[in-house]
Amino acid sequence: MCGFEHEGSEFLPEIMKDGVLVFIEQRDGKPERAAWEALAGGQTLAADLGCGVSSVVVGKSASAAAGEVVASAKVSQVYVAEADALNAYTPEGYAAALKEVIGAVEPAWVVFSHTYQVRDFAPKLAAGLSSTLAGDCIGYRVEAGKAILVRQVFQGKYACDVEVEGSPRLVSFQAGVFREDAVEKQEAKAPVETVQVQLAAEQIRSRPEEPFREAKQAIDLTQAEMIVAVGRGIKGPEAMDAVKKLAKALGAEIAASRPVCDSGWLPMDRQVGSSGQTVAPKLYLALGISGAIQHQVGMKGSKTIVAVNKDAEAPIFEIASYGIVGDLFEVIPPLTEELEKLKSSG
Ligand code: FAD
Repeated sequence: MCGFEHEGSEFLPEIMKDGVLVFIEQRDGKPERAAWEALAGGQTLAADLGCGVSSVVVGKSASAAAGEVVASAKVSQVYVAEADALNAYTPEGYAAALKEVIGAVEPAWVVFSHTYQVRDFAPKLAAGLSSTLAGDCIGYRVEAGKAILVRQVFQGKYACDVEVEGSPRLVSFQAGVFREDAVEKQEAKAPVETVQVQLAAEQIRSRPEEPFREAKQAIDLTQAEMIVAVGRGIKGPEAMDAVKKLAKALGAEIAASRPVCDSGWLPMDRQVGSSGQTVAPKLYLALGISGAIQHQVGMKGSKTIVAVNKDAEAPIFEIASYGIVGDLFEVIPPLTEELEKLKSSG
């Protein structure tokens, strides 16, 4: 059944049959933060379904180090899928390696974090397994022993229930749905099984280049006591002068949601969220930010959150201490004016 050559202890696929297998994304032998979130999700799902949880790391040599780290988490087994052709990440390599591991382990669920890497290879893996991938889920609930996944549709306006048939079911969860510090640990390390995947070099058709590295962070928003954060609702860079004036009157730093930085309206180091900075100021003023989970994880620790959004249903209002349902362009000028008056009156 299994096409592996394996070293060390017996490879025991029956441990995981019908359980949850969690993909651990690693870089240079270190599990990524997203991998811990996926593991927390996998552990929760397994507990709710009453089954076991295991994890798999893919790569070459360095991946073993990542496997050792993950073994301290409460998992029944860590599989380290290795092959020379997995030295650098490629979608074909990862999809082929995971297909082999999944084929042998036969999990009922495979859990991923919804990262760029996973988005790159997971659809190919799902197609190769003739399985379904429910990507970018924001949660799940268990009804009559079945897990029903929740996904956002229409740009987050609605959440819909998704029931996936067959086995294995592949699911990726949005960043921030599960917390990395929620991973359950165990005293005795889980067994780490190195699995030599049969992967020929000619199966890899892409030629990977040096991994992209984010620019060095210049602004430390984590120390800011007050933050004025802007989202796509500000429409464009023209509005930035008014925002700067408001931030100055308040004595606040300026931050942004990801689309604002992606569009170049503000530099990348101003981004707050799962792929930006995590902040915890006394005041976080969110202007035209919908409050997507990836943004929330970076700012929900703020003491007071004030949100201005013209959509009363925007998720940001669920975590806001105070909310204004209205047009930010009508709110900014009088607010700035009042703050300037306060400042000049001492
Ligand atoms: P939108 O969701 O488009 O919201 C704009 C809001 O402005 C709407 O609610 C609208 O009602 C409101 N609005 C429009 N006009 C006005 C007006 N005149 N007055 C008042 N309100 C108005 N996002 C982050 O922010 N940080 C991250 O670190 C991050 N990391 C991510 C990582 C991954 C792997 C992925 C997949 C996504 C990530 N995202 C991140 C993106 C995230 O999912 C959302 O797409 C993003 O946060 C939405 O930004 P937004 O709220 O500015 O835009």
